[in-house]
Amino acid sequence: MNAEHHRIVIIGAGFSGLGMAIRLQQRGITDFLVLERASRVGGTWRDNTYPGCACDIPSHLYSYSFALNPDWSESYARQPEILEYIEGLVGQYMLEPRIRLHHEVTRAAWNETDARWEIQTSAGDFTAHYLISGHGPLAEPKFPNIAGLETFTGTVFHSARWDHGFDPTGKRVAVIGTGASAVQFVPEIAPATAQLYVFQRTPPWVVPRMNRAIPPEERERFKRQPWRQRLERAMQYALREINVLGFSNATFERLAMSVSKKHLEAQISDPDLREKLTPNYRMGCKRITVSDDFYPALARDNVELVTDAVQALEPNGVRTADGRLREVDAIILGTGYHTAESPAFKLFHGRDGIRLFDAWRGSPEAYLGMSVAGFPNLFLMVGPNTGLGHNSIIYMIEAQISYILGALEYAQFHGIRVLEVCRDAQERFNTELQARLKPMVWTQGGCTSFYQDARGRNIGLWPGFTFPYRWRTRRFDPAPYRAAP
Ligand SMILES: Cc1cc2nc3c(=O)[nH]c(=O)nc-3n(C[C@H](O)[C@H](O)[C@H](O)COP(=O)(O)OP(=O)(O)OC[C@H]3O[C@@H](n4cnc5c(N)ncnc54)[C@H](O)[C@@H]3O)c2cc1C
Repeated sequence: MNAEHHRIVIIGAGFSGLGMAIRLQQRGITDFLVLERASRVGGTWRDNTYPGCACDIPSHLYSYSFALNPDWSESYARQPEILEYIEGLVGQYMLEPRIRLHHEVTRAAWNETDARWEIQTSAGDFTAHYLISGHGPLAEPKFPNIAGLETFTGTVFHSARWDHGFDPTGKRVAVIGTGASAVQFVPEIAPATAQLYVFQRTPPWVVPRMNRAIPPEERERFKRQPWRQRLERAMQYALREINVLGFSNATFERLAMSVSKKHLEAQISDPDLREKLTPNYRMGCKRITVSDDFYPALARDNVELVTDAVQALEPNGVRTADGRLREVDAIILGTGYHTAESPAFKLFHGRDGIRLFDAWRGSPEAYLGMSVAGFPNLFLMVGPNTGLGHNSIIYMIEAQISYILGALEYAQFHGIRVLEVCRDAQERFNTELQARLKPMVWTQGGCTSFYQDARGRNIGLWPGFTFPYRWRTRRFDPAPYRAAP
């Protein structure tokens, strides 16, 4: 194989991959490369450009602790500003020479003899001793399995690949799905459309957003006195952590549910619509959405919330189970992402050629969400059970970065060429993790969600507070690993 060799190859230039790259560089480790399939960095925040796209974790917290941005213009920044922040990091940390855009990794196979990963991309081959994958937990849009999708003759696109050539003005539009993305873009397009049909399978729990513009004086203070921003960030972190109690404590859960129900009552006066929007599962079971304008959008005269199941798409519209056809010019799919069975898992071929996709069989698990038995020298970022329903994923990403750095430095120091987590350590870790998840709302809340695999096992979320994860990953512990020189 005529391939370019690096000590470390990182897949993906989103928050995970770039954060890893910055920290490697800061530690003086420079023999690495970031392979990114797209034409720009940014990951989630490059791909999701739908109207209204914004973070739902406060920006002070949804950014790196080592690269605070005193200039956030709103408490919940919008997509263009987050993308600008991420792109700015590339220049700030002089990462350009280490990033290869338009390099889609199509296969990564462990070569036992040479103890290295052989990586094929759309633009050439590479080898690396270590492969770190930040391919993204929500990077592969999921198209619904609805009969007739290909027969529809109008415009159809997924919210994660917004068609900016499409103008909703005066059009009849169908939105399928009412998850976190739809909650953000429905209010943005509703006023322009002639008629908007929102097809809902399960109503989301919605809480007030309480976004606010951050005035220039406040930003100036953050610049002059960064401790103020750190304090703000720490307070927001603590507040978010308290939310965990809502997922595990009945009193807190009732309190949180009453906040959301009051929000609904205040914004929707029609009892039938209110009924349709009242969730029949426990709060937190699915991702909680934050919005001040989703409910008012649904109450508009030109918007209909349809709760009859979508049966089929036809050339000119959407037919529901009650036999009714709603004719539309466009269909926007707010139908989420592949998680438990992400096609990304097909890339990795571990020991004996086993694919990660086949090893997991629809039910991903790893040690600390990062290491998988049978896949030596591979570290996953935001891997199984390290997603969050209540706090900033950047906190978890930073924990993983420091753990992986620890592993690399340990291996270097001890002359180790191969690091592989032991299967029994991985199993013990997951048995304990699943036992902790079992009584929690994500498993017992009476819903199905993208946090779960097909059997209802939670493969997405870290159970509970995040600081124990940080504690557990603060230092690389070689004990659960098999190390070979
Ligand atoms: C609309 C939306 C809003 C969100 N809001 C929040 C929020 O408010 N708070 C929060 O905590 N989380 C939020 N998330 C979750 C979000 O995914 C994470 O916060 C974070 O962006 C993940 O970063 P990442 O780098 O791990 O993955 P990504 O940002 O998805 O980046 C992955 C990168 O890998 C690249 N890649 C994938 N496969 C390949 C391949 N084969 N070859 C080369 N490159 C590849 C992709 O092109 C992409 O650039 C949101 C997600 C979405 C979709």
